[in-house]
Amino acid sequence: MRGAPSYDMRETSIELTTVDGGRFEATGEALRPLRAHLEGELLRAGDAGWTEAVRVWNATITKSPALVVRPRSARDVAAVIDFASDRRLLLSVKCGGHNIAGTSIADRGLMLDMSPMREVAVDPEARLARVGGGCRLRDVDAATQRHGLATTLGFVSETGVAGLTLGGGFGYLMRRFGWAADNLEEVEIVTADGRVRIADRDRDRDLFWAIRGGGGNFGVVTRFTFRVHRVGPIVTGGLMVWSADLAEQVLEAYRSLTSSAPRELTAAAIIRLAPPAPFVPAHAHFKPIVGVLVCHTGADPRRDLEPLRALPPPLVDLVTEHPYTVQQSMLDDLDPAGFNQYWKTEFLPELSSAYLDVWRRAALAVASPMSYSVIFHIGGANNDHDVDDGAVGNRDARFVSGFSGVWRPGEDGRAIVEAVRQGWRQIRPFSTGGNYVNFQLAEDLDERTIAAYGKNFERLRRVKGVYDPTNLFRSNRNISPWGPGEPRRDSAERHPRAR
Ligand SMILES: Cc1cc2nc3c(=O)[nH]c(=O)nc-3n(C[C@H](O)[C@H](O)[C@H](O)COP(=O)(O)OP(=O)(O)OC[C@H]3O[C@@H](n4cnc5c(N)ncnc54)[C@H](O)[C@@H]3O)c2cc1C
Repeated sequence: MRGAPSYDMRETSIELTTVDGGRFEATGEALRPLRAHLEGELLRAGDAGWTEAVRVWNATITKSPALVVRPRSARDVAAVIDFASDRRLLLSVKCGGHNIAGTSIADRGLMLDMSPMREVAVDPEARLARVGGGCRLRDVDAATQRHGLATTLGFVSETGVAGLTLGGGFGYLMRRFGWAADNLEEVEIVTADGRVRIADRDRDRDLFWAIRGGGGNFGVVTRFTFRVHRVGPIVTGGLMVWSADLAEQVLEAYRSLTSSAPRELTAAAIIRLAPPAPFVPAHAHFKPIVGVLVCHTGADPRRDLEPLRALPPPLVDLVTEHPYTVQQSMLDDLDPAGFNQYWKTEFLPELSSAYLDVWRRAALAVASPMSYSVIFHIGGANNDHDVDDGAVGNRDARFVSGFSGVWRPGEDGRAIVEAVRQGWRQIRPFSTGGNYVNFQLAEDLDERTIAAYGKNFERLRRVKGVYDPTNLFRSNRNISPWGPGEPRRDSAERHPRAR
């Protein structure tokens, strides 16, 4: 079904924005060159599928694209890139739509919604999984777990593999296998010149280095090849919850647990108000609680979880043996789409008692019915790497911690935002100096992106200059090819066509 939109393009005209703020009148005639090369759908507001295509997770994002293409192949992606590049259109790429800064939407731009490209092929002998550029985490976990295999991915199964992996990607398996990006063996990627390339440790090596952490700055990944590992299929995990009156004691136990935990155990600490969920006793609803979420993929969970079992009896104990896929979707309902979100986090080199004290007090101040504060333990395999290190860097990070302000659309979130900012100011002195690029907000300035990459930033900028010299891929946490003092070349230059 080549280029068959759900309406007649000849009768309609859409205005798209160009990178220099100009307008492009997308009449049926003007879109003909794109449609001629497209196997997937072209959508505009009002078409079936539009609402889903432009929906993003964070409700504070109010931008909208003018036109959406749902590609079916790398060729389709190349056609869109050529079309956008030749006309200097604002282009964005969406996988799971979970980026909190809303980078998958360029306002009044052209969006590539990768959701049709969700195939996963697992080769259990070679221990590889080939994953389409529009997959959600659950697509991959479901397919790999059929073979008792898995790779590092995040905590919420609806998150997009592409955005998560290209920015680094951590989750329950990070301590064993490193960043999701560390597990990449190869990508198929369409670069700004419209070429479909295979990048790996031998081919387009700099590009392969850069995409392992550099986000969507270097092209559109149409297929990821991940190394996969024996995991589960049954693991021990779940949540234990206490009243926040015991927070000091629970957090000290968490500190002790994480200082001695084998890499098969990952634990996260959470402070929030108890949700009115069926698994929480009614008397605790909306009261401050402290929780520890665990996942143990190794041999002796009972022994390794002892520091938690030695605590006073919890209000809630949901730690059980269950399939890894259940563990991977356990938090989905606690973090649904459609709410306003404001996050501030830092990487930590260690978890000191002083940090826990500061974080606990700030977290209790952030508490509102839906907000939460977290400490994720990520130290392990990611700290080993010094060879074959992708651009994600941050090898000194052992914890990710901070505050998530959450409120309903229509509610006044100003006090929540202020509490998150205040908490963040207090924890910054404990930071490695780095922060996670995938948790950045739209309001965060370039300095924060530069800090996220540290010593890797300059190399990233050089690679960007080679593969995307006109900054076609700019709707992201942008690594501009133009250094300080160099003139921007937005309106003057076009990228040389590869084909
Ligand atoms: C509820 C929730 C839970 C999360 N949990 C974790 C976690 O456990 N671990 C973790 O590491 N992070 C986590 N994150 C952060 C997450 O990694 C980022 O939000 C990430 O950007 C989401 O990826 P996405 O594909 O869903 O995002 P999208 O918003 O769809 O895309 C984000 C950006 O990725 C790029 N991109 C998307 N698809 C492609 C592609 N095919 N090719 C090239 N570039 C592309 C584009 O630049 C795009 O702007 C979580 C976020 C949320 C909202």
